[in-house]
Amino acid sequence: MTKIINVNPENVNEDILQSSDEIKLAGDIIRNGGLVAFPTETVYGLGGNALFADSSMKIYAAKGRPSDNPLIVHISEIDEVYDVAEEVSDKAGQLMEKYWPGPLTLIFKKKAVVPKETTGGLDTVAVRLPNHSIARALIKAAGVPIAAPSANTSGRPSPTRAEHVIEDLSGKIDAIIDGGSVGIGLESTIVDMTEEVPTLLRPGFYTKKMIEDVVGVCKADPVVFAKEKPVDVKPKAPGMKYRHYAPKGQLTIVYGNKDRVISKINELIIGHKENNEKVLVIATAETKDCYLCDNVLCVGERSRKGDIASHLFGVLREADDLGAEYIYSESFENDSLGEAIMNRLSKAAGYNYIEV
Ligand code: AMP
Ligand code: MG
Repeated sequence: MTKIINVNPENVNEDILQSSDEIKLAGDIIRNGGLVAFPTETVYGLGGNALFADSSMKIYAAKGRPSDNPLIVHISEIDEVYDVAEEVSDKAGQLMEKYWPGPLTLIFKKKAVVPKETTGGLDTVAVRLPNHSIARALIKAAGVPIAAPSANTSGRPSPTRAEHVIEDLSGKIDAIIDGGSVGIGLESTIVDMTEEVPTLLRPGFYTKKMIEDVVGVCKADPVVFAKEKPVDVKPKAPGMKYRHYAPKGQLTIVYGNKDRVISKINELIIGHKENNEKVLVIATAETKDCYLCDNVLCVGERSRKGDIASHLFGVLREADDLGAEYIYSESFENDSLGEAIMNRLSKAAGYNYIEV
C-alpha cells in the first residue's frame, strides 16, 4: 500500500512543514530505508536515503531503471554539499551561491560515504539543493541526503503532478507527498564540475548562457544539443544514453515555416485517418485551431516558454491516455528555455524530425 500524504501547496512555511506529523513520518520512512515521492520545483522526485545502497537499489527497482544510470543527491543547506562531495572548486562555489537553492545539479568527486549504488557505479556524485519548501522540509526531517531521480517509470515522461506518480508507482513505494503541480516542469540543469572547464550535461531552467555568466566558458556535451540520434558517442553521463520521456505513440517533430508546418501536419493527419489510425497534434495557443484533427493538445502560447516547459510532460502523458498512435508536435525556438524544451522533445521523439 502506498500512503498518499496531502500537503497544501499554499502552506509553504518550511519550518512548520518540517515539524508536521506527516513530513516527520515521511522523513522517518526515508531515513529507515523506505521510498517516498515528493514534489520539487522541477518535477516530482522518488526519494530514498542516499547513504544506503539498499535504498538506491529499491529506487532502481521501483522505476525499472538501469542501475548504471546515477541518481541525484538532494540536500537542504549549501554546507551539506561537503558531506557528500570532495573537491568543491571555486567555480562550483560561485554557481552554488548564485543558483542554489534552485534547479541546478552539480557533479563532484564523491566522498566514500556515498555508496556506488547511488552513483550508478561512478566515482562522482550529482548534488542539488531544491528550491521547494516541501522538498527541503522532507530532507531536514529525514536528517540524511535524499537520492532522488524523477518519480516516473523509467522511459516515460517525467511527473509534474502527484497523479502522474500515482499512475506509475502506486503499490511500489511507501508514500507519495501530493503537493500539487510543480512550477518548472523540466528536470534540473546538470553541470559537471570535476574538470577545470565545466561541462553542461543536461539543459534545464538554467541555460548554458546563465552558467557562463557566472563561470566563463562552459562546454556542452555533444549529446545535449544533438539534432540527430547520437551514434557512437560515449555519453559522459550514463543516463544520457537511455531513451527518455517517450509517449507510447510514435512522436514526430515537424519544423520549418509555420504555415508549411500546419499544412504538412494536416496532410499527415488525413493519411492516418484514411488508415483508421489514431493521430494527435501538439500545438500552441496560436495554432491549435488550424488542425483537421479531434485530438489537439495545446502546450501554451508560443512566446511563453515557461508555460510550454511546465505543460510538456503532462501533454505527452495525455497523448498516452488518449491512446494516440501517431503524434505530431510543432517545434520551438532553441533560445533560453527552448534549449531544454527541445532537448526533452527530441529525446521523446527519438530524434524523429520532418523539415518542411
Ligand atoms: P533523473 O533524476 O531522472 O533526472 O536522472 C538523473 C540524471 O542525473 C542521470 O540520468 C544522469 O544523467 C545525471 N547524473 C546523476 N549523477 C551523475 C554523475 N555522477 N555523473 C554524471 N551524471 C549524473
Ligand atoms: Mg528521469
